[in-house]
Amino acid sequence: MAFQTPDLPYAYDALEPYIDKQTMELHHDKHHVGYTKKFNAAIEGTELENKEIEELFKNVSYHPTAVRNHGGGHYNHSIFWTIMSPTGGGEPSGELMDAIKRDFGSFSDFKDQFAKTAAGRFGSGWAWLYLDSNDKLGVCSTPNQDNPFMDVAECDAKKLLMGLDVWEHAYYLKYHNRRPDYIKAFWNVVNWEEVAKRFK
Ligand code: MN
Repeated sequence: MAFQTPDLPYAYDALEPYIDKQTMELHHDKHHVGYTKKFNAAIEGTELENKEIEELFKNVSYHPTAVRNHGGGHYNHSIFWTIMSPTGGGEPSGELMDAIKRDFGSFSDFKDQFAKTAAGRFGSGWAWLYLDSNDKLGVCSTPNQDNPFMDVAECDAKKLLMGLDVWEHAYYLKYHNRRPDYIKAFWNVVNWEEVAKRFK
């Protein structure tokens, strides 16, 4: 069964003015669709075809590079669309907020650390909020289309709660070289309900 690019859970222009329609259209219909297609092509007819994608990530350094790049691309974007929403923004609540305060000091300290990590990624990659094997929240960044589940990644994640795409294709049309402005805008569309669901 081949992997499918999930539909966007909202319209292309739904995240305006924070993320523009054209960026969303190209990002989903061209970039993500391309990753999914190339990932399927890389595993089709091989013993990797019927494995869970997370299983492939655990040993990704032993698989063809296309599994790492395009499998990662497919998986990471599938998370990314869902952790944003036109009714997003604000602050999380309940157990997630309690855990953020416990592990980062405050919500604002968490935001600072996440934004710094995202801004500091040299070149293309992602920033992540994750839960580690000791049930502690952490923030890290991975290059290219890597993610924390991959054996090549430095962060030890049990669950991925949210990921922010900091490839230029995610922001260049609207924000040009100003990645920090894109990161600042991102907070207005974070779907905390979905992040909390992933945390549970
Ligand atoms: Mn992307």
